[in-house]
Amino acid sequence: MIPSKFKILGHEIEVVIDNQYCHDHECQGRFLEWDNKIILADRYKTVRSWRKYKQSIVEHTFYHELAHCLLYYTGNKIWLNEQLVDTVGGLLHQYNLTKE
Ligand SMILES: [Zn+2]
Repeated sequence: MIPSKFKILGHEIEVVIDNQYCHDHECQGRFLEWDNKIILADRYKTVRSWRKYKQSIVEHTFYHELAHCLLYYTGNKIWLNEQLVDTVGGLLHQYNLTKE
């Protein structure tokens, strides 16, 4: 499940779906550190219409962007290390999928 907002160190992080933004920026998601916002796409544009991403893909992207956000608030520039971010995101995603 993807939240609509959460707090990190007192900052409220908003999570929004914005398919046009992601289309324009050629991404599936983005953490905007200056705006405390995670933007996600749940649809992508084809020649004729907008098609839905699988939910598992949207969730994978959410955890990737969440990892950017968490690492950003460590105050260390590791938050820009895509390989590390993708690993941490994958770990958080698995934690969330398998916890009881
Ligand atoms: Zn990234």
